[in-house]
Amino acid sequence: MNLILMGLPGAGKGTQAEKIVEKYNIPHISTGDMFRQAVKDETELGLKAKSFMDKGELVPDDVTIGIVRERLSKDDCSNGFLLDGFPRTVHQAESLEQILTDLNKKIDYCINIQVDKEILMKRLTGRRICKSCGATYHLVFNPPAQDNMCDKCGGELYQRADDNAETVENRLEVNIKQQQPLLDFYQGKGYLVTIDGDQPIDQVFDNIDAYLRKLK
Ligand SMILES: [Zn+2]
Repeated sequence: MNLILMGLPGAGKGTQAEKIVEKYNIPHISTGDMFRQAVKDETELGLKAKSFMDKGELVPDDVTIGIVRERLSKDDCSNGFLLDGFPRTVHQAESLEQILTDLNKKIDYCINIQVDKEILMKRLTGRRICKSCGATYHLVFNPPAQDNMCDKCGGELYQRADDNAETVENRLEVNIKQQQPLLDFYQGKGYLVTIDGDQPIDQVFDNIDAYLRKLK
């Protein structure tokens, strides 16, 4: 099974990716891991990517796509793969189609874990940390017994600057803008599966798995 997994920050993509690769024993291919491996293996493309990363520059598309091609050609992808974080643009998605055609493969599903922005805001801004002992809480998922006070030591709770509403909203907006053309692209190809991510983790996985079982 050849899968692409998509979802906005806070949608639970990482958790679902782990569950999918564990059950179906396919490699979880994230862009970051792929770059690190190519650099470690000192492949020509890996070294090229490194030269850009060392300068703090964005790795050009042709290098990224080349690394994806190398990765998907490896033996461990013969039974499938889960792509996470790639493609990020329609141009990359089109290149991926070409790579897969060359390898005599095709995408089975592009799975989008859909959660409304308002809910993601609650998830992503709810974290609170104890000033004294560093214990972490979440106003929705793991609230302290008393408002703004650590259960363990009575310390005061604070919110990290990265978790504030404005920062989180900006991050979501950037991701929504980036993701939408890709969702349209895969919808057009007939690969897109939309899963309601506003449910318990196991329920989300069951709903994804209902599609994956059809491929077996
Ligand atoms: Zn504490």
